[in-house]
Amino acid sequence: MSVTIPENISKKKKNVKKYCLPLLPLRGLTVFPSMILHFDVGRKKSIKALEEALINDQLIFLVTQKDAQNEEPSIEDIYKVGTISKVKQLLKLPGDTIRVLVEGVSRAKISKIVCQEPFFVAELTEMKTDLDSEMTFEEEALKRRLLSIFEEYAKFNKRISQDLLISILLLEDSAEITDIISSNLMIKACDKQKILEEDVLNNRMKMLIEIMLREIEIMDIENDIALKVKQQMEKTQKEYYLREQMKIIQKELGDKDGVYGEVLEYKEKLKNRNFPEEVKNKVEKEMNRLLKMLPGSAEGSVIRSYLDWIFDIPWDVETDDVIDLKKSEEILNKEHYGLEKVKERVLEYLAVRKLRNDLKGPILCLVGPPGVGKTSIAKSIAKSLNKNYVRIALGGVKDEAEIRGHRRTYVGAMPGRIVTALKQAGSMNPLILLDEIDKMSSDFRGSPSSAMLEVLDGEQNNTFRDHFMELDIDLSKVMFITTANSLSTVEKPLLDRMEVIELQSYIDDEKIEIADRYLFPKQILENGLDKYTIKYDKEVIRNIITYYTREAGVRDLERKIACICRKIAKKVLETKQKTISISSSNLEKFLGKKIYTCDKISLENKIGVARGLAWTPVGGDTLEIEVNIMEGKGNIELTGKLGDVMKESAKTAISCIRARINEFSVEKDFYSKYDIHIHVPEGATPKDGPSAGITLATAVLSALMKVPVKRTVAMTGEITLRGRVLPIGGLKEKAIAAYKAGITDVIIPLENKKDIEDMPLSVRSKIKFIPVEYIDDVFKYALTEIKYRAKNDLTDDVINSNLVIESNEAILV
Ligand code: ADP
Repeated sequence: MSVTIPENISKKKKNVKKYCLPLLPLRGLTVFPSMILHFDVGRKKSIKALEEALINDQLIFLVTQKDAQNEEPSIEDIYKVGTISKVKQLLKLPGDTIRVLVEGVSRAKISKIVCQEPFFVAELTEMKTDLDSEMTFEEEALKRRLLSIFEEYAKFNKRISQDLLISILLLEDSAEITDIISSNLMIKACDKQKILEEDVLNNRMKMLIEIMLREIEIMDIENDIALKVKQQMEKTQKEYYLREQMKIIQKELGDKDGVYGEVLEYKEKLKNRNFPEEVKNKVEKEMNRLLKMLPGSAEGSVIRSYLDWIFDIPWDVETDDVIDLKKSEEILNKEHYGLEKVKERVLEYLAVRKLRNDLKGPILCLVGPPGVGKTSIAKSIAKSLNKNYVRIALGGVKDEAEIRGHRRTYVGAMPGRIVTALKQAGSMNPLILLDEIDKMSSDFRGSPSSAMLEVLDGEQNNTFRDHFMELDIDLSKVMFITTANSLSTVEKPLLDRMEVIELQSYIDDEKIEIADRYLFPKQILENGLDKYTIKYDKEVIRNIITYYTREAGVRDLERKIACICRKIAKKVLETKQKTISISSSNLEKFLGKKIYTCDKISLENKIGVARGLAWTPVGGDTLEIEVNIMEGKGNIELTGKLGDVMKESAKTAISCIRARINEFSVEKDFYSKYDIHIHVPEGATPKDGPSAGITLATAVLSALMKVPVKRTVAMTGEITLRGRVLPIGGLKEKAIAAYKAGITDVIIPLENKKDIEDMPLSVRSKIKFIPVEYIDDVFKYALTEIKYRAKNDLTDDVINSNLVIESNEAILV
């Protein structure tokens, strides 16, 4: 068949040439202009198209079909843009196949399909080539970039030969360069097609640059991966080889080292110990597992650490302990001053244990402020019973696993604190001190308190299970003692298991004795000063206590004494003196400037100032409450960092006075006419608690009546709206603070009268306690006088305000 060129289509028409040529669909191949390549043609339709091309001017339109697998593509299955090519050579291969050599001439677009059988003939429009146009700067820049990136691409892609690279680099024409590079890239046919279809040369170059950059990055990563895989394989092979060698060497050496040797060692150790049957079985099982492990394997080291822990637990060790009350009493007395009640309670506890001959029953819990000797008593008990002593600090423990251990499946798993303590104690019957049990808290990881319940339960703690050990551990012979600063945060079930012994704060006289008899001698010895003479008297100690410490116990005092001893040690070495004396006058040389001043009673009775008593974790304190009444609109101002409870107390106190407005000579409408400002000095220290109620009321009434408060009186007590005085806590500490400040009269709630007995004698002898039931008694006692309202001074207004308060109270009740 021959192809006729329609009349209206001439081969050359101005710039845009039109053609009518046979079409050959290509499979998985894209031909670009300037490209010479050969391919095999087998499909009948394609061979016919080729033959037709040869008959005419050897031109044929080569266009890629969308799906390479399609044997008989229709016209929809081929792209619209292809390359007009010149057939250069044909070679018949066996079996109806023709190998053809073509050269790409120019890109063209199908404008119409003239016929489809026996082969496709298409009318084509040649696409503009940009050949004539002058090269712009942009084009030049793109060309250079294209070439340099292609150079780089060629480094990664081994299929691009050096010759090809050089020949491309020598080319001048950008379009030609673009076409040749496009045809040589190893990219998907559809990507090549996109480049082919792009009219504008610069865009073609940009597309190419983008594609090559992407390809370079991918190839770079590929190379990297390949390298890593290779290295890993080499390493594994090397390790395997070395391990095999090591195995052979170990065998040759008679298995003395390595895993076999280790297991032999464990076996030897096991023979010498008297483990419970369950533990023995577990050890043997783990040894067998260890034998199967490769040396150096991670699991091997987990087993090893587990076995080491088993051998560290003193399963078969117990100290000979006997409860000897006399010895215990001696040691407790020798090591502690005072604390008579505590020692007595401890001895009673031990007596019961001795009679029952076991440790089941409540656990001792020593409660008191820091530094009052809780730990030290526990240590003395351990010593007197011939038990090893270990302390577990529970402060901040939040996680059950800290008590019970982590399961071995966790990375870095460890047994819990109880097992660790047993290892430390070196015996199965030590005394374990659970220090600060009130500082344990719980979070999402479980509650340590519930684990503690099991530990402290005499009925079930003979089979305590640690998650790491996975063995029953007998804690029934362990004597547990706990300590706490306060019982309010200890969980109820835990508290039920405990027998609480309270340790009170020390008064100064007790502290002086403790420092004189224990702390100074101990620190002198510890600082290597026993061969020197250190002179001090009780007055010095009193000064240290007053001006350098503020605490309920003696821990800080001990620290200050240690500090003095260190300074002395330096001094004796420098001056070669044999005797050093510490006196009140040279104390500042050792301890620096005084840190605290002593609260003293005021020199005069003041209006609107009442002295309250506070409890703090470091002992009692006195605090003055000041009230100012100013003309205003009935606002109540509270300052001094007061907590909510204290603010409410203040309001209650004022209401209480308003309710008595017909009784006292105060201005009838003070609550709307004046502003009341209440301030508690030392504004930076937060204060809260209900016990300042009566002090607030006294200060307010004093200010309203303009009557002074007695300077020798201090008071503590909660107040109700009706004026009843409710009991408070921490009276001993508060009374000691009042005593130190020189107060002679302390007003206390009636219900606290029973606590007076617990006061140290020195306090009781100096202070008069005035128990009160109603606020009116407080006013009577604390104010220098009371101005009563004259009977005829009452008005309806006053009565109404009184009624309002009463009804308020009814609602509250
Ligand atoms: P806590 O456990 O109550 O916080 P410590 O037992 O650690 O206090 O006591 C702190 C220091 O005070 C220890 O050196 C202790 O020996 C000493 N100490 C406390 N009370 C006395 C006392 N009554 N007699 C002798 N030393 C005491």
